[in-house]
Amino acid sequence: MVLGQVLREWSFHGLESLAASRGRRQLGISRKFGDDALSYFTERLHPAPTRAAVIQIVRRAKRNKAFQNSRFIGLAVDGTTVGKCRERHCDYCRPWRRAGSEVIAGYRHHLVMLSVVGTGLSLPVDVEAFGPGDSEYAAGQRLLRRVIPQLGSRFADYLVVDGEFATAPFLHSCDDLGLPIVARLKGNLPELSQSAKQRFSQQPPKLSFRWGRDRVEVWDADDFDPWESLRWSTVRVLYYRQHKPDGTIIEAYWLTNLSCERISRRSLFGMAKSRWEIENQGFNEAKNQHGLEHIPHHHANSLLIEWLLNCLALTIERLYRLRYLHRGSYPRLSAIQLCRLLWLNLTTSVPPNTS
Ligand SMILES: [Zn+2]
Repeated sequence: MVLGQVLREWSFHGLESLAASRGRRQLGISRKFGDDALSYFTERLHPAPTRAAVIQIVRRAKRNKAFQNSRFIGLAVDGTTVGKCRERHCDYCRPWRRAGSEVIAGYRHHLVMLSVVGTGLSLPVDVEAFGPGDSEYAAGQRLLRRVIPQLGSRFADYLVVDGEFATAPFLHSCDDLGLPIVARLKGNLPELSQSAKQRFSQQPPKLSFRWGRDRVEVWDADDFDPWESLRWSTVRVLYYRQHKPDGTIIEAYWLTNLSCERISRRSLFGMAKSRWEIENQGFNEAKNQHGLEHIPHHHANSLLIEWLLNCLALTIERLYRLRYLHRGSYPRLSAIQLCRLLWLNLTTSVPPNTS
């Protein structure tokens, strides 16, 4: 199943035909199996060893200096929706209603993912699924409480999240885990949002720089009052306006407990921007190229295993392609180039590597 993810052949039928093909020996598969064997297997497989495997891999990647070109290692947590279906089949099926309607139009699955970001290597680490009556926000906290102690509280320099996670209980969970946080500041925190807007609108930017072809202006202050339930002494808020060559402007507010002494404005801007990696290299690539939205077998544990193996496969593929293969002066292979190369070599007999 991991090889299938790397080869972009995630359906159980596809794996069955690979296992029955002449390429089987090159895949290291000793005997044929059917798609029903994979259903049976994933219904029963315990998720803990797969989760532990990915954590072991990213810890080892850090020890082996896979992230040495970046000053900071970030983590991002975010939620997404996958696997739409008409009927309710499993405990993770959540009813889905069209906007403005009470009628249940179908069901879909929600999961929260944690990924390494901000290092030039986006590595998905773990997912937490949640069913009806549960929430993205609660699942995100469970995910952090499980993963951070295993990764080690010093593994990452910051956690970056979108606005819906910027609530006092979530920020306090991060404090308890020793993880500084960079969170999008939106209208769900009206007081802080208003006072930042008001103050920055009367000031010139504190910093201006080129970012690719764009010009970025940054405002920053670390003495905002926390909202009532937040037990921080002050809040630092960063605001940026990013001017695109075509005249469009992207702007966003971010809050953090990283101090100005420790993290510069320019670095904080980079940390905020690293949140996009979980959308782009995380969800988009997993959905568009590795079938994250596909339901190979509709069973709660089976789906969870699929999502975890997707993380494991993407993390292995990226470390192999961008670090192991990229030693020396060789050009970097893109994911699709490596995928095609693997397919082309499936029926080639290769002597076993005994070194
Ligand atoms: Zn379901």
